[in-house]
Amino acid sequence: MATIKLYNTRSHKIEEFSPIDSRNKFVSMYTCGPTIYNTPHIGNYRAYIFADILRRMIESNGYNVKHIINLTDVDDKTIKKSIELGITLDELTKPYEQDFYNGRESLELLPANIYPRATNSIPKMIEIIELLIQKDFAYKTEDGSVYFKVSADKNYGILVNVDPNKIKENAGGRMNNDEYDNENIQDFALWKAWDVNDGENKWESPWGLGRPGWHIECSAMAEEFIGGTMDIHTGGIDNMFPHHENEIAQSECAYGHTFANFFVHCNHLMIDGKKMAKSDGNFLMLNDLKDHGIHPLSYKYFLYGTHYRSPANMTWDTLNSAQTTLMRMYEKFISIIDLKNTNINSGTIIAEDNAEDYIEKIKNVLANDLNTAEAIAFFIELFDDIEIPNEIKLITILEIDKILGLGFNKYYKLDKTIPSDIQKIIDERNIARENKDYTKSDELRESLNNKGYIVIDTKEKSIFAINPLDSA
Ligand code: AMP
Ligand code: ZN
Repeated sequence: MATIKLYNTRSHKIEEFSPIDSRNKFVSMYTCGPTIYNTPHIGNYRAYIFADILRRMIESNGYNVKHIINLTDVDDKTIKKSIELGITLDELTKPYEQDFYNGRESLELLPANIYPRATNSIPKMIEIIELLIQKDFAYKTEDGSVYFKVSADKNYGILVNVDPNKIKENAGGRMNNDEYDNENIQDFALWKAWDVNDGENKWESPWGLGRPGWHIECSAMAEEFIGGTMDIHTGGIDNMFPHHENEIAQSECAYGHTFANFFVHCNHLMIDGKKMAKSDGNFLMLNDLKDHGIHPLSYKYFLYGTHYRSPANMTWDTLNSAQTTLMRMYEKFISIIDLKNTNINSGTIIAEDNAEDYIEKIKNVLANDLNTAEAIAFFIELFDDIEIPNEIKLITILEIDKILGLGFNKYYKLDKTIPSDIQKIIDERNIARENKDYTKSDELRESLNNKGYIVIDTKEKSIFAINPLDSA
């Protein structure tokens, strides 16, 4: 078992990680999930890919992770869009929830244990707000809204260095928006009194009809589904302020205990030197990648090349070259499956040790603040290690793929029966090759490629297989 080290935004340094319930090897982890009013862009997916590899790394060290990813189904954005479209919040958000699950599946992200919807935790939000009012960390305004009193929280600004003078200067000012910058620190809304722009979206509360602010939602879902101090909270760096800062303020002032021992944040996906963002219009969806022939797993592979705390600069060239490398690994994998029974030799025991070394090295570099780039470098080396027989190599690849989640296990389990129409083309191509009719054999290869199959020609024979990275 490797020592796990992570950069903790809470302490602003790399720390050794050990969970609260280390006796039971249990880790609780909360990831801020999507606002389900549209399809997530690939920048958003960077945050989920990062949370997934973090979880897989922890699990590979023998821990059992309870992973919560919330769904924001009520906030300014969902309400505005549902009213514009004349549909209910449920009608608006259900298809996007499904869309999110589909995207996750195509990226081989492990399903969370629970995907709570904010609207199911409103009683817990009310409970927290009542506690905050009782303890004088929050106050009600005349219209029936409730605000968090930032100046009452001595620890405010633990994640992002906040100038205490700014808090003093702005004391008493009120921020009704869910998103704002840290130059604009003011008391923020925990509960927003109903107004006509909210349409039918209103809930009973001790302060009258209204709806929650965005930040209180995560405090409530974390308390409801984890409870007490959690081990790890994740998100993108843009969630640090005000969202995570406010989550900490709410939960710690209400309950008096640490909200999360570790906050781990990933940096942004950049395109043309700018953060990919809905508001800037420079965003791409997973489907846009597919339209460019890039499989979601190639995008994930590309991200592994950059440390999670650095910006990842995306260009079509870098995505294409990531896909080429991943495809080469898959081609070798397919050849290994094909050959695995042909060359087991007496060196098996030593080879097992060598193979085990790769797993250990990968676990170690990942445990060291998630060095994914080194992990994939070791993974690539394994494919070309001629000392390891194919049978053992296959098992090792599948074992490492359980940590890296690059789809090798899924592909291995696929029903690879070749349908008769494809077999006919394969037979024709084999004949063309025997006759040295390379023009025809190239044409037939292309036809197979267009039908989602790849051809690997070796000295001895040609191997045909379903394209693992067919982005259709
Ligand atoms: P949102 O739906 O805007 O709350 O974003 C969902 C998640 O995506 C959050 O964790 C954000 O921090 C993250 N995120 C948004 N844009 C990017 C980006 N360009 N790169 C990486 N993560 C992002
Ligand atoms: Zn959140």
